[in-house]
Amino acid sequence: MKASEIRSTFLKFFESKGHQIVASSPVVPGDDPTLLFTNAGMNQFKDVFLGFDKRPYSRATTSQKCIRAGGKHNDLDNVGYTARHHTFFEMLGNFSFGDYFKKDAIAYAWELLTVHFKLPADKLWATVYAEDDEAYDIWKNDIGLPAERIVRIGDNKGGRYMSDNFWMMGDTGPCGPCSEIFYDHGPDVAGGPPGSPEQDGDRYIEIWNNVFMQFNRTEDGVMHRLPKPSVDTGMGLERLAAVLQHVHSNYEIDLFQYLLAGAKNAVDYAAGVTDGSAGCDKDSPSLKVIADHIRACSFTVADGIIPGNEGRGYVLRRIARRAIRHGYKLGARKPFFHTLVVPLAAEMGEAYPELQRDMARITEVLKAEEERFFQTIHNGMEILDGALAALEKSGSKQIDGETAFKLHDTYGFPVDLTGDVCRERGVTVDEAGFNAAMNRQREQARAHAKFKMAAGLEYTGAATAFHGYEHLVCEHSQVTAIYID
Ligand code: ATP
Ligand code: MG
Ligand code: MG
Ligand code: MG
Repeated sequence: MKASEIRSTFLKFFESKGHQIVASSPVVPGDDPTLLFTNAGMNQFKDVFLGFDKRPYSRATTSQKCIRAGGKHNDLDNVGYTARHHTFFEMLGNFSFGDYFKKDAIAYAWELLTVHFKLPADKLWATVYAEDDEAYDIWKNDIGLPAERIVRIGDNKGGRYMSDNFWMMGDTGPCGPCSEIFYDHGPDVAGGPPGSPEQDGDRYIEIWNNVFMQFNRTEDGVMHRLPKPSVDTGMGLERLAAVLQHVHSNYEIDLFQYLLAGAKNAVDYAAGVTDGSAGCDKDSPSLKVIADHIRACSFTVADGIIPGNEGRGYVLRRIARRAIRHGYKLGARKPFFHTLVVPLAAEMGEAYPELQRDMARITEVLKAEEERFFQTIHNGMEILDGALAALEKSGSKQIDGETAFKLHDTYGFPVDLTGDVCRERGVTVDEAGFNAAMNRQREQARAHAKFKMAAGLEYTGAATAFHGYEHLVCEHSQVTAIYID
C-alpha cells in the first residue's frame, strides 16, 4: 500500500466513524507563541480542547504536517541515524472534543490496524500510563491483548507526570495520560520491548499514540482539568508505511525512493561525478539527512519562513546547513540542495499543492542560503588549510581548541566539519580547549545579560531574555507538575 493510499484509508476510516476530515494547518503555527513549529496534529485544535473555541463538529481527523526540530519535541540530531525519526513528517490523527473517550479510541485504533490495514495482532504491543487501570483493562478485556504485551510505563523522566506515557504538547498546554501502540519488526532488528532498558533500538517501533486529554498545564506547573475529557491521537504516516510495505526503515518506503535517488544524483553532480561512475553511497546516512531535510526546509519556506539568525528562521537555517554540510561530506563542492525541491514537489505536490505553487520561490530562497553557506565553508577552509599547514611544519598532530572555536564563532564554520577535515588529514581537534572557549563565551554572554539587569538597562528586554532562559532550563530539568482537580 502506497503512502498516499494509507493516508486516504486512515481519513476515510475515521470519516465513516463520524469524523470531519479537516485540512492540515501550516507548519508555522498562526498565533501560538509557545510553539516554534507545528509538532502534532492537535496543535490546530488546542483552543478547542481548552474550551476557548468551538467547532461545528465534535470529531475530527487530519493528516498534519509536523516539524520536530526544536522546542520540546526535538528530533534533529536523530535524523539520518534512526530508522524512524524525521524532522518533517505527516501525523495521522483522530480527535474527540468531549465526545468519545478511552474505550472507543482504543477500539477504533485496533479495528483500523488489524481489520483494515490487516496487521498481525501478535506483532502489536500496547503501553499505558502506569496508573491508568482503565486503559489497561480495555486492552486486556475488551481487545483481548495478552497481558505480556501490555506494558505500564510510570514516571520515568524525573518528576510527577514526566513519562513517555504522559503526553504534553510543550511546557504548557493540553496534556494527559496516553496509550501507545508498538509494532515488532522482528528479531533481526536490535532493540527491546517498550519499557525495557533495551527499548532504544528500532525493533519495537512506536507507531501510534492515543492521548487522553484531561488537563491544561499552566506555566506554574499546575494541572487544570479540561472542561471535557477528550482524545487526541497521532500516528506517523512514514512509520506505518514502513510496516505496511514490509520494510524496516522509514527511508525504504515509496515516498522516499525518488527523493533519495534525487539526492544522490544532485550530490554526485555537485561532487563532479558526471560520468555515471559510482559517486556517493546510496545507503549513506548523509543522503538520508539530505532527503529528510529538503522536506522540512521546503515546507517551512512554503509557509513563509526564510533563513535567519533567530527564532524559526534560525531553525530553518540550521536544518538547511546540516543538509548542505552532509552533502559536503559526500564530496559536493557547489550548491545542490535547492535542486531537490523539484523531485519533492513531484512526489508530494499532489497532497500538498503549496509545493507546486511555490516551487520557484522555495528554490530561490534555499539557493541563496546555500550559496551563502558554501562561501562560509570556502572561507573557513582557507583558514583551516593555513592552520593545518602551520601545524605540519611544527610537527604537531593536534589543532588547538582556540582555532576551532574561532572558525566556529567568527567564521560560522561548523566544528564537526573542522573535525572531519582534520580526521582526513590525520589530525585531532583539542576538544577540551574548544569546550573551554565555548564556555568562556557563554559566561561572558551571561555576565553581560546580568549587568544589563543590574543597571536597569533596557528593563523589558532584559526581563524577556531572562524569562526565555528560565524556560530553556525548565525544558531539561525536573519539572514537578502539581495536580489540581
Ligand atoms: P519517539 O518516542 O519515537 O520519538 P514520540 O513518542 O516522541 O516518538 P509522539 O509525540 O507520541 O512521538 O507522536 C505521535 C506519533 O508520531 C509517534 O507515535 C510516531 O508514529 C510519530 N512520530 C513522532 N516523532 C516522529 C518523527 N520525528 N518522525 C516521524 N514520525 C514521528
Ligand atoms: Mg520523540
Ligand atoms: Mg515515544
Ligand atoms: Mg509517543
